Amino acid sequence: MMRQYELVERIQRYKPQVNEALLNKAYVYAMQKHGDQKRASGDPYFSHPLEVAAILTEMHLDESTVAVGLLHDTIEDTSATRREIEEMFGEDIGRLVEGLTKLKKLDLVSKRAAQAENLRKLLLAIADDVRVLLVKLADRLHNMRTLDYVPPHKRARIAEETMDIYAPLAGRMGMQDMREELEDLAFRHINPEAYRTITDRLAELGEYNRETLGDITVTLKDRLAENGIEAEVYSRQKKPWSVFRKMESKALSFEQLSDVFGFRIIVDKVDDCYRALGVVHRKWNTVPGRFKDYISTPKQNDYRSIHTTIVGPSKQRVELQIRTREMHEVAEYGVAAHAIYKDKPAAEKANGQDAGGGISKDSNAYAWLRRTIESLSEGDNAEEFLEHTKLELFQDQVFCFTPKGRLIALPRGATPVDFAYAVHTDIGNSCVGAKINGRIMPLVTRLQNGDEVEVVRSNAQTPPAAWEHVVVTGKARAAIRRASRMAVRKQYAGLGHRILERAFERAGEAFSRDILKRGVKRLGHKEVDDVLAAVGRGEIPSDDVVRAVFPDYQGSRNASIPAGGAEGDGWFNLTNAEGMMFRIPGDAASPDAQGVAAREAINRAIPIRGAASDMPVRFSPEGAVPGDRIIGISTPGKGITVYPIQSPALAAYDDQPERWIDVRWDIEGLEKRRFAAQIVVTAINAPGSLAEIALIIGQLDANIHTLSMVRTAPDFTEMVFSLEVWDLKHLNGVIAGLREAEAVSTVERASG
Ligand code: MN
Repeated sequence: MMRQYELVERIQRYKPQVNEALLNKAYVYAMQKHGDQKRASGDPYFSHPLEVAAILTEMHLDESTVAVGLLHDTIEDTSATRREIEEMFGEDIGRLVEGLTKLKKLDLVSKRAAQAENLRKLLLAIADDVRVLLVKLADRLHNMRTLDYVPPHKRARIAEETMDIYAPLAGRMGMQDMREELEDLAFRHINPEAYRTITDRLAELGEYNRETLGDITVTLKDRLAENGIEAEVYSRQKKPWSVFRKMESKALSFEQLSDVFGFRIIVDKVDDCYRALGVVHRKWNTVPGRFKDYISTPKQNDYRSIHTTIVGPSKQRVELQIRTREMHEVAEYGVAAHAIYKDKPAAEKANGQDAGGGISKDSNAYAWLRRTIESLSEGDNAEEFLEHTKLELFQDQVFCFTPKGRLIALPRGATPVDFAYAVHTDIGNSCVGAKINGRIMPLVTRLQNGDEVEVVRSNAQTPPAAWEHVVVTGKARAAIRRASRMAVRKQYAGLGHRILERAFERAGEAFSRDILKRGVKRLGHKEVDDVLAAVGRGEIPSDDVVRAVFPDYQGSRNASIPAGGAEGDGWFNLTNAEGMMFRIPGDAASPDAQGVAAREAINRAIPIRGAASDMPVRFSPEGAVPGDRIIGISTPGKGITVYPIQSPALAAYDDQPERWIDVRWDIEGLEKRRFAAQIVVTAINAPGSLAEIALIIGQLDANIHTLSMVRTAPDFTEMVFSLEVWDLKHLNGVIAGLREAEAVSTVERASG
């Protein structure tokens, strides 16, 4: 076991003015408190906090953080209290040890919801003081190194939690060494066979290539020296987990892996990085498309380096990373390195004056942490949050710009919708299109590094729920879900209100929100709006609501469908393909002549902005109505076809961005008029069904232009209506109204 003077010596190597007294006091206190406690391995328990402290010295952390490492298990496992620790070591250390104690209680819960809660608490604790994370990671690293002594049933869970949360978090905070070691230790327990196989192969390969690697190292050193560049050069081998991940994700065999070996060139100044790059590129051929300058555009976790891949002497690909010593330390130690470059140890700073524990507020890692914590308060489901955070932890970044040049970092695979939400939630919610590098592009386009993205916006919109599948960031997904939940709820509540108005009227009773309040509890709800939405969704029959308010009411179903009459009484007879006859009220069905006239009027002057004036414009068969977000597709010689943005037909044009045209409704100040839209209604096959449907459509002020019917099953008929409606709100009202009808099973907007 390490003695206290050894610990002091380790710190003195990077911090000569070490507070020896503090360390000695913490060492003795922790040793006495843990007393004769033993670890699973049989070692004295104190060996664990001591090893954790040693790991913290490897990260070059100050003595108060190392002291927290020594004390981190005392409150949880011994008679020590926060008060006692504060009295002996100060408030700062007491707070940190207490924070770690709280986190420990959350460890290794198997339920996913509880895991998510754990991650939330961890992130909040880190934001408070990043030293909590550094000690927690050191603690986890030592526990992983000694995992063999833990009972097998616990091992898998610890390893998986490490792989899922702690390793990516270390990576996200820029601590690559920590990340790699945690991943490999976890990999060894999660998939022992794969781990052993890859480790053996890597060892063989390293042996086989030893000479070549030595040759390249010597050549690199000589060339750089000839050009007056002082540099440290060494080769490194990919870690087993990263080899395995690459084999899996790219479906490659071990032999097909091309970049198992890499070289690092460490220089003094940023200038030297670019000069070294010149030397390398003059000496060897490079592999196209593999050059990356993370110095001018750092990664989100503050990683900076130049990456390039050359073709080596025996035709193998060799990756080179070129960086300064400072960049190297940031790459190895991440947020911990920011602490190193601070003048004063963080503990001496006034509490709350900086971001905590020396993490720089300017660092990208910190910005990410803040954003993630913000989304904690937005997301209302802990499991969704875990899913998103995990997703974001694993993904690489793309960097895009607003037209004003603001840098927006997004996970790889992000779309303009993600971009819009990253800029601001309001911008995401009102996004209807995007220009990428000046050209209108589909919203499903994956953004590339350096893209300039201009979001095309329209007010009075809610994002379609389908966008949830278009986005990759948690922020966008949560906002879309929230917006569509709210929109749907509002829509149903509005519909419920109208349904209840009519139901109360039938019962001969007055209706108002106040009157409805009387029945809310009896119906098992808390708020009037809950009841309205439930009625709108069809969960509560309207008669039940009337009865809840007026218990004597008997019910009145079927009274609202009028009896038939002779022809000429304002009703039309329709016969469907099977010879069944329906009667529908005349004000709901437009006679053909009227319909054609209306249709022509619609086609004559389509109020669309964005289309060149001499181009003929028409609507796609499913129609589009004001309020729909629309996209124009141009067909040479034929003009522009306008589609609602959710139309599946648009997918056919994904690979022809030049045909996409940014169009918008231009109806401001124009006289109110109707637009065509198709809906598909599946109705129960019973006499009177069509009549009921047509009646509702008429009552809701829509015209039926055409109707076709197909019997899809013995009990169901699919009806495709071409309706003429005022706008999207009107159409949604009609759809919602039809969904309430007893004869109706489903109603959807037609898609293409
Ligand atoms: Mn511990």
